[in-house]
Amino acid sequence: MSPKDTRYDTMKYNRCGLSGLKLPAISMGLWHNWGDVDLFENCRAMILYSFDNGITHFDLANNYGPPYGSAEENFGRILRKDLAHYRDELVISTKAGWDMWPGPYGDWGSRKYLIASLDQSLQRLGIEYVDIFYHHRFDPETPLEETMGALDHIVRSGRALYIGISSYNHEQTKQAAKILRKLGTPCLIHQPVYNMFNRWIENKLLAVLEEEKMGCIVFSPLAQGLLTNRYLNGIPNGSRASKPGTYLSREDVTQKQIVKVVELNKIATQRGQSMAQMAIAWVLRHKVVTAALIGASKVSQIEDILGCLSNTEFDDKELTRIDQILTQ
Ligand code: NDP
Repeated sequence: MSPKDTRYDTMKYNRCGLSGLKLPAISMGLWHNWGDVDLFENCRAMILYSFDNGITHFDLANNYGPPYGSAEENFGRILRKDLAHYRDELVISTKAGWDMWPGPYGDWGSRKYLIASLDQSLQRLGIEYVDIFYHHRFDPETPLEETMGALDHIVRSGRALYIGISSYNHEQTKQAAKILRKLGTPCLIHQPVYNMFNRWIENKLLAVLEEEKMGCIVFSPLAQGLLTNRYLNGIPNGSRASKPGTYLSREDVTQKQIVKVVELNKIATQRGQSMAQMAIAWVLRHKVVTAALIGASKVSQIEDILGCLSNTEFDDKELTRIDQILTQ
């Protein structure tokens, strides 16, 4: 099956900081729903639908699954089967920094772990290089010079074209950027969590990213599904909160949050949007935010989210009302 000729007609591509690389405003992450426990044909349909609609960026990590590694393997299979001729139209990222294999060399931020992990990821993906390689979380024990030195080496050795960091706070980000600049491999991008229920980056990180001219791709922009219509009438079977082994438990779906989503949803309706569309438009309102990194369990969710691109502007009244609801 060939991708659609119209695939670049509607997506918006934003420059990643001061780099030459542009990312689709809506990018696809393969954390939950892409493991061996999930239906391969559904994964394939979501990837092909995404690519057909201008989503050129797919984000992975060594331990996405379950089991660990299986999301990379499944994405590699889809690449070979359907997108082998389109590698140069894709931006593929992966990460290391959380637990991956047993013992002292399969976690955190040593040079030993990061380089070995990326080599394993490339094998699972069946590609020669990734476009972006991230350090997944700050390591308080390994010298930052060692971790950043490993990222620099990874680019120089051809394993990745660009490098990034994830979930580093503003001070750690400043330090990392300084070391990388000195090494001659600028930090392309930061990947923090950001959504209406978790606004920590507004405090200081966004200012640092602007100052450092770094891109910013925000993960879990829908708060793992809470900022959608998914949980307005309880916890449906098959939803992330209903499944064991996910990072969203039944207890995380609180009445307090649902009351807020009901109120937010009224604003979305007035804007002619679904709740999910408004939540994505809201994270994209900052000029520093390059892309919203979404997740999905079915094609119809991706279709819904893409609809937000026709209305990403907010007036002051809407923003004030949203702030009021969120701080109630
Ligand atoms: P989201 O906040 O976008 O949540 C995705 C979930 O929301 C889906 O699985 C689905 O839930 C629900 N959903 C999506 N669209 C709709 C819709 N239109 N209507 C109703 N429900 C909808 O993102 P994720 O938490 O999945 O994270 C996205 C990506 O971010 C990950 O895949 C990963 O690449 C990255 N990430 C990075 C981390 C890091 O440390 N750097 C940590 C976490 C994520 P359901 O499954 O119930 O249908």
